[in-house]
Amino acid sequence: MILSIFLPNAGCKHRCKFCNQYSMTGEKMPTIEEIRNTFKLFKEKKPDEIAFYGGTFTGLNIELQEKYLKLSRDIFPNLPLRISTRPDEIKKENLELLKKYNVQIVEIGIQSMYDDVLDASSRGHTVKDNINAVKLLLENGFTVSAHLMVGLPLDNFTKSFRSLEKLINLNVKLFRIHPTIVFKNTLLEKEYLHGKYVPLSLKTAVNICSEQQLLAFSRNVNIIRLGYFVPENQKKEIVAGPYHPSFGDIVKAEAMRKIITRLNIKQVYFPRHFTSWFYSYENKKLNVKKEIWNGPIMFDKLSLQEASSLSLKKEN
Ligand code: SF4
Repeated sequence: MILSIFLPNAGCKHRCKFCNQYSMTGEKMPTIEEIRNTFKLFKEKKPDEIAFYGGTFTGLNIELQEKYLKLSRDIFPNLPLRISTRPDEIKKENLELLKKYNVQIVEIGIQSMYDDVLDASSRGHTVKDNINAVKLLLENGFTVSAHLMVGLPLDNFTKSFRSLEKLINLNVKLFRIHPTIVFKNTLLEKEYLHGKYVPLSLKTAVNICSEQQLLAFSRNVNIIRLGYFVPENQKKEIVAGPYHPSFGDIVKAEAMRKIITRLNIKQVYFPRHFTSWFYSYENKKLNVKKEIWNGPIMFDKLSLQEASSLSLKKEN
């Protein structure tokens, strides 16, 4: 279990066009005392990892970063930590501090590998910053979990797909992919209300992300989250965009459908816990024999990796 401490927009020196973490999560900035109490409360539950999510951890002043890290180490001496941050706040000095406190995974908001998209989204960093940050983190032994968004201003299918591909080529192996949602009290909301920004439909977002999922399967990298988790009481903050509570499941089911139809697969085999990938949404009606077994997912005689790769080739 990951014990997460959420620090909304903490350490962010400016606000990205789509972001308002108070609206998105309903979380408030915790005091050090509140964090200490949370740690004590969860100590008995024996978490496996501590995460400082939200905002730009390495953008906080260095004393405050150390206060959070030390508090965590004092209560959970041997646990690995993870933090979230942005590419232009990754500097050699930060990394020394993170290493000292056993931070192992850095969640980094890349969002796009195209400068025009980053600029149009008021990200305040460039693709060069993305590349430098990823290289520096990997060289220093951190695991990088790269966050990407689809449907940002000036983004399109090809840019979303290639952004993922470019990061895989840089040796990133963990990803979170979020379709862009318009939340209240963001600049993107204003642009949307003035007709300057048109969000993706759910169908288009699923189409793009299912191709990204096929790419991830074909290159053996892991997308650990697809779509935003929005707590029930924050759903009123969504103004527009392709939000769906089961977005990730829809994308996986669509990726399976694409493989089966593009490659004219006759029989699929899968472990029971993947049943929803093959039966949910449109996949109930698929004309293919389905068998639950204890082995890996197979499409006729093809592995998931081989079938994903062939399915991408077939489409292009
Ligand atoms: S997207 Fe990330 S960097 Fe931008 S304002 Fe939100 S938390 Fe800060």
